[in-house]
Amino acid sequence: MFDAHCHIGTLRCTDALVCTSRVEEYGSIKDFTHRAYGILEPSRQDLDALDGVLATDADALVGEVGMDARWPDDGRGLLDDILHIISKHKRPFVLHVVRRHEEVLGILAAAGIDLPFMVHGFTSSPQVALRYMRLGGIISLGPLCPATRHYRELLDLPFLLESDMPLSPDSQGVLDRLYTQVAADMGIERPRLEEMIDERRAVLTS
Ligand SMILES: [Zn+2]
Repeated sequence: MFDAHCHIGTLRCTDALVCTSRVEEYGSIKDFTHRAYGILEPSRQDLDALDGVLATDADALVGEVGMDARWPDDGRGLLDDILHIISKHKRPFVLHVVRRHEEVLGILAAAGIDLPFMVHGFTSSPQVALRYMRLGGIISLGPLCPATRHYRELLDLPFLLESDMPLSPDSQGVLDRLYTQVAADMGIERPRLEEMIDERRAVLTS
């Protein structure tokens, strides 16, 4: 049961991609098998820290990074520079996008990045998901997704599953229920779903 997006918590589980949102967290994820360095609400100085840590950690991904309508400048000013760092270090990456899909799709297309990526906590339409897929991305669905409008249609697309919580017994419980619900809603056995997700996530976390 792979957790495609979680944060630093109390567990050191290997079956999870642990993401960071701030430079201050970077020192705490070195021991995780699947780890990603990210910055939310980025500043210029953060870009140097990201560039620097990627130079010293060859197996890590980038994430989470992105744009969010709730941030004062929504992040668009620095996303281009972040993508530049990502392509320089050639890492798969994890996107956080809240009500800014058009802008992020435009920036990704213009950047012409040819690296696998995931859009975590996805709840938008299948049409938007398909546009990310054409650029090399995959969506990841979190515990809130089943209550959202496009949930059933999203199950027809390739997706990953995530807790989006600090890695802990709690997050494992939430993820376990999500896997069970999604398998039931797809009408497949749960071990089959776990296999499918493991195959899909290998593109990002080999
Ligand atoms: Zn996020």
